[in-house]
Amino acid sequence: MVEGIFTKRRQRIALKLDINATEKDWFNWKWQVKNSIKSIESFENLTEIEFPEEERKKLIETQERFPLSITPYYLSLIHKENYKNDPVFKQAFLDERELIITSSEMSDPLSEDHDSPVPCITHRYPDRVLFLVSNICAMYCRHCTRKRKVGDVDSIPDREQIKKGIEYIRNTPEIRDVLLSGGDPLMLPNDYLDWILSEIEAIPHVQVIRIGTRIPVVLPYRVTDDLVNMLKKHHPIWINTHFNHPQEITASSRQALEKLANAGIPLGNQSVLLAGVNDCPRIMRKLVQLLVMNRVRPYYLYQCDLSEGLSHFRTPIGKGIEIMENLIGHTSGFAVPTYVIDAPGGGGKIPIMPNYIISWSVNKVILRNYEGVITTYQEPRNYEQNFCDRDCPNCNLELEIIDGEEDIKVIGIEKLLSDHDKTISLVPKNNERLKRRFDK
Ligand SMILES: *Cc1c(COP(=O)(O)O)cnc(C)c1O
Repeated sequence: MVEGIFTKRRQRIALKLDINATEKDWFNWKWQVKNSIKSIESFENLTEIEFPEEERKKLIETQERFPLSITPYYLSLIHKENYKNDPVFKQAFLDERELIITSSEMSDPLSEDHDSPVPCITHRYPDRVLFLVSNICAMYCRHCTRKRKVGDVDSIPDREQIKKGIEYIRNTPEIRDVLLSGGDPLMLPNDYLDWILSEIEAIPHVQVIRIGTRIPVVLPYRVTDDLVNMLKKHHPIWINTHFNHPQEITASSRQALEKLANAGIPLGNQSVLLAGVNDCPRIMRKLVQLLVMNRVRPYYLYQCDLSEGLSHFRTPIGKGIEIMENLIGHTSGFAVPTYVIDAPGGGGKIPIMPNYIISWSVNKVILRNYEGVITTYQEPRNYEQNFCDRDCPNCNLELEIIDGEEDIKVIGIEKLLSDHDKTISLVPKNNERLKRRFDK
């Protein structure tokens, strides 16, 4: 059991939810799930926040479109006095602006359902897949990019669907990394998740399994000794979690992270840049520093997706660049995440950075650092370039190619840069100018 602090406030919340609730119940994740807050009335009763009648009507309308679910633990982190600006409140509670759908928003902005060879799998990158194994979440994030699937009972993948996903991975030898997500994979029962992990692990070409989960943030008591002991049988397991604000780093979440890290699981964090929550360089700096103190490596900072109903959470990209400018050089390199935009339409994650290269000549590169110092890097005078025709056994550089090892095709810009491929440009399909050419 994860210990935390059973404050007077938590005790009050627990007793309102269940008159027989004990301290032990509070720290029991199943009690937390069973007593999750799913109605506006219950939320008002527990937080002692009261919405005016007019507002409540709009909230009910919002809830009909996008359901509500908050764990008692996560609810207990809301600072009631200033709730309208509270980062936990904003991530967990309904906002009538979710009903505003602007013309650039889409229900599936990343085209995950298009790049899907079998229902639970998105195969977008050459060597790895996203495997949606659960449609259940402990808390419904208001900023969820897969809002289209939230609370949608019909799309809970059953064992047969999961088997089809596993089958696809087994039949696709280039997949070396499987990313379990959902929903939250850690909402599945231990033995079911154990079965999924065992099946994937038994596939010879799978080298690592990753789990994307918000459990340490919204339901840290789920990280029990039993869970951790099960997970560590399946190494190498990597976990990415989703902290967005320093207020989410509590005694309980710290202990959950400690258990996972002690089990030898490398931990990463994916934050989403959210207006009114963490769109501030000082907040982000504090967050990443707290994360590394808890052995979590900030992995990605996401630009908010163009999912329906998220317009009030979106910031300009400039805000993200400003945050990166405030992190790079100013704090430990391993505390700095990569800022990415997940390309609308399904192009995958595109990294974004402030510009550090100022100019370039044949023998010098002019760079600037985080302080504004402008510096010169002298290029080497006699660099001997290895012509690469991808014939590794006959190259001066040593790389042992194991027989039968998958050799992934060269694609995209990598192809333009290569020596052995004669392609000199990438041209959009249906390019009008090329259609006009006589010698096509
Ligand atoms: C994010 C993502 C991955 C993993 O990408 P990494 O950059 O390796 O973390 C894989 N598949 C899909 C569809 C994704 O969205």
